Amino acid sequence: MPAYSDLHVHLRGTISEAMVAKLGDLHGIPTPERDAAQPDSRLTSFERFLDEYRTRTSCIRTAQDLADVGRAFFELSAADGLSYMEVQLSPQHSEHLGLDFNLELDLLSREIDRIQESHGMIVKVIATAVRHLGPRSAFETAVAVAKAKHPLVVGFGLTGNEMMYRPKEFADAFAVARDVGLGLTAHVGEWTGPDQIIEAISSLNLSRLGHGLSAAKHEEALSCLVSHQVTVEVCIASNLALGRVESAESHPVKDFVSKGVPCALCTDDPAFFFTSVPKEIALARQAGLSETEVDRCLAAGILAAFCDDSTRSALLAVTA
Ligand SMILES: [Zn+2]
Repeated sequence: MPAYSDLHVHLRGTISEAMVAKLGDLHGIPTPERDAAQPDSRLTSFERFLDEYRTRTSCIRTAQDLADVGRAFFELSAADGLSYMEVQLSPQHSEHLGLDFNLELDLLSREIDRIQESHGMIVKVIATAVRHLGPRSAFETAVAVAKAKHPLVVGFGLTGNEMMYRPKEFADAFAVARDVGLGLTAHVGEWTGPDQIIEAISSLNLSRLGHGLSAAKHEEALSCLVSHQVTVEVCIASNLALGRVESAESHPVKDFVSKGVPCALCTDDPAFFFTSVPKEIALARQAGLSETEVDRCLAAGILAAFCDDSTRSALLAVTA
């Protein structure tokens, strides 16, 4: 079985119950109640998810807090057998909190070095622009990321409200990131139609795409994904929790894989969706993937990673 990787995971979305309590204590913030009766019940709506996300991550107040969240998640992931991950972090969010993004990366680097030494797991960062903050802000973010050239940052992405703006409006930001050699990915087709998937691939030069659900049963979007060999970052537990698919069995990953779309299995916000890479693998089997197809997805996760070629060759030699 190819090595386990996670190409789509938001670092703040990994915060554990214990860390919410610990940082809450540290900063004097009351720990938010979770639905004690059904802690793993579906979040049912995006608004409810965002509410819970804001509440539970509001205890991350400093660069050190974020490094602590990182350490806990890296240890958990290494215990799950992961060899490689790319965590998403937004410089705009750091700025909003009055934090220095590059200082956050420096503190995170120490934890990343530690986990690589102790478990051999490699962690990189995708700097993300927030779509609903608009193209101008995304462009400024890309320029700052390109200028800083922090060694941890290997990619540039787009998160946030898909209903705001069109993908092509972010072309300038993505061009800046591409010019400095960053890998490109964007959340598209989770909440919007297949036209946005086609537009994002052509105007942003993506090699990966988050979710892409609306390509299902849309021949043009599917053939666009196949012809450009864009890897879809598939997050089944997230799609289930947010009601984007009815059941694992009805998830389009089976269709994507059988049509030749490269798919990587990812966790998105694992602490909120109660998931992990091994759980995503189990969900992919439930969605109808054969063992060979699961292996193909795991290999796709390494092939589409934004790492350098020597790291990729080393990861391809690792087996889970
Ligand atoms: Zn995501």
